[in-house]
Amino acid sequence: MTVPQTLKTCTLLALVVGCAPREPGTRALSGEGWIDVTATLDPATTPVYAGDATMKFDFLKDMRKGDKLTLSVYAMGAHSGTHIDAPMHFIANGAPIDQVPLFPLIGAARVIDIPDSVQAIDAGELNRHDWRGAQRVLFRTRSTLRSWMDSSAFHRDFAYVAPDAAELMADGGVLLVGVDYISAEQFGAPAPRTHQILLGRGIPIVEGLDLRPVEAGDYDLIVLPIKVRGHEGAPARAIVRKRN
Ligand SMILES: [Zn+2]
Repeated sequence: MTVPQTLKTCTLLALVVGCAPREPGTRALSGEGWIDVTATLDPATTPVYAGDATMKFDFLKDMRKGDKLTLSVYAMGAHSGTHIDAPMHFIANGAPIDQVPLFPLIGAARVIDIPDSVQAIDAGELNRHDWRGAQRVLFRTRSTLRSWMDSSAFHRDFAYVAPDAAELMADGGVLLVGVDYISAEQFGAPAPRTHQILLGRGIPIVEGLDLRPVEAGDYDLIVLPIKVRGHEGAPARAIVRKRN
């Protein structure tokens, strides 16, 4: 085939593909409209859970200091910043982060506003909101209102998901639960019941979202953890896009 012939065929193909009716309900994927709800990892501004590993980011080589290249090393806990808890975190023989399926991590998500005065998101509080039917639920709480994912101080009085609410959501078919501080569990809870309930049902938990750029409503969500073999959690990038 000569070059002009190839060009002609390609043009024809492009026209055919371009004119083909798109499947109903689908739209071309693009970077447009996505909002980053990931907390920026920065040892100066990322809170570290009491007792967890401190973050240490260093440049081994630095072009700004005359080196031929820039090269750095990160040391931090697996649950730093925006991250995902895999079942292995609290379930014996639970799946590690590299085995968490993509399905719960990508798709429709509902952002629910929890008032600043509320610390316990229990069944009563949950049922004050329109959560039923949502596949993924992200709680936008006092932590977002107070910018706590962007402040190095660790706050113990963050809003948490109480075990009875976790149970309700698991029974209601929720595939993923997200919170806007570094843990979904009440600080100092006698047992990690919320984690056990959700992770025990194979429901990954996204913790440490920074939901300041969004309001309550329905979104598409993509949240993808770093793929680390055989570990119980990993930092993730989370983005949302308002649904039509
Ligand atoms: Zn975690």
